[in-house]
Amino acid sequence: MLLETNERTVADEARALQARYGNLEPADIIELAIDHLFNEEIAVVSSFGAESSVLLHLIAQVDRATPVLFLETGKHFPATLRYRDELVGELGMTDVHDIHPLQQTLKDEDPYGAMSMTNKDRCCYIRKVEPMARAVAPYRAWMTGRKQFQASTRNALPVFESVGERIRINPLAQWTSADLQNYMVANHLPPHPLVAEGYRSIGCMPCTQPVKEGEDARSGRWAGSDKTECGIHLTGLTDQLSNISLTDSSL
Ligand code: SF4
Repeated sequence: MLLETNERTVADEARALQARYGNLEPADIIELAIDHLFNEEIAVVSSFGAESSVLLHLIAQVDRATPVLFLETGKHFPATLRYRDELVGELGMTDVHDIHPLQQTLKDEDPYGAMSMTNKDRCCYIRKVEPMARAVAPYRAWMTGRKQFQASTRNALPVFESVGERIRINPLAQWTSADLQNYMVANHLPPHPLVAEGYRSIGCMPCTQPVKEGEDARSGRWAGSDKTECGIHLTGLTDQLSNISLTDSSL
């Protein structure tokens, strides 16, 4: 009952933050979140994908010690891992965490590492949703690089939203693809090497393919299936986190 009350309070807080600050520029939102709203209780989740450099660069201008959480599913393109190391070094981020799936769960449920071919939802759950809940549990808030333009399912994405007892912040929600490109060029940010090969949203290797001009950037993810999100931004994460109060980050 107390948890439900806390969640309602946090949902009200997210709505109030959205009404007051939802139209600020990304740099101002990030500074506000890190320096004033959630000081030392905030992290950023990054996929080190096609446009990840923008959010990380903006955060590095405020605090290079902001924790960066990377879901190391074990299924990434080698190019993504190299890009991650290069970008982290270039931006000087000092607190990067690889978040792994539970080894016992992998042994029990996916001993051959082929679950992405037979049950993508479960594969994403054990490799992304559960690890993500474990990773963000110690924080009061986390930032993501999600944008409204990326897919029709993200058209109404707010900057501030609640996830159980915690706040999720999408500082770039209202930026367009052109805004991101301009920012990358102006700040000499290195592109993910696979962008040149037509990949515009980059996740795990078995579930990512290039997209054609004019298609949703995310249409190359889980192409050929109904799946559009891995679940770390959906209710599965909320359900996981609903079992972890802010005073219990031991999951
Ligand atoms: S994106 Fe594909 S490989 Fe990665 S966790 Fe999900 S189903 Fe598995």
